[in-house]
Amino acid sequence: MWERLESLWQRALDVLAPRECAGCRQRVPGQWCPQCWQQLEPHVAALGDLTVCALGPYDGPLGATVRRLKYHDRPDLAGPLGDTLGRLHASVLSGQALLVPIPLHRARLAQRRYNQAALLARAIARRTGLDHSPRALERLTSAARQAGSSATERSRNVQQAFHARERRLAGATVVLVDDVVTTGATVRAAAGALRAAGASVAVVLCVCRTRTRQPRAEAQGPR
Ligand SMILES: [Zn+2]
Repeated sequence: MWERLESLWQRALDVLAPRECAGCRQRVPGQWCPQCWQQLEPHVAALGDLTVCALGPYDGPLGATVRRLKYHDRPDLAGPLGDTLGRLHASVLSGQALLVPIPLHRARLAQRRYNQAALLARAIARRTGLDHSPRALERLTSAARQAGSSATERSRNVQQAFHARERRLAGATVVLVDDVVTTGATVRAAAGALRAAGASVAVVLCVCRTRTRQPRAEAQGPR
């Protein structure tokens, strides 16, 4: 009942005050203009033993949207992006999955004031009715500390970057949520920590996937 009221209210708001297209920022009655909607390239790909579901490539228009979300103080963009992820990849989200976002290190979180992946997970949860747990994982290493360390050290740091801290993870089926997946090292490390806590992890939802094996510097840079 409440959700029905909320959706009616949202429809009324769309008519009275059109929102901004999440892709190109023109005023539209909804989340996307027809052109940007057509440019989405939802796809599913295997990454080792994980299945990564994305809305499109990072080097397309979606990459610009993600950069606005992360670096230009636009946490509101997580709403349409997460909602669209939940809608277009609903088939992989059946059952009682728990949505767990990739966390930021506390230093980065203090700087940005929001974790874009946690906002995406919240929007996916709203769309799908699944639970989300923004505190299930803790990030132990910061990107700043990694700079200057050797490749071997960096790889070890990534493997030990996460700590699973929720008891209810044992036996849970977790779906990881992140904004961009590049090499996959981060989501693999997060999946490892969650599995060590007794969860099963098979699916990653992300807005963008980088197309090439060598990700662009922008995609790697501050989370
Ligand atoms: Zn648009």
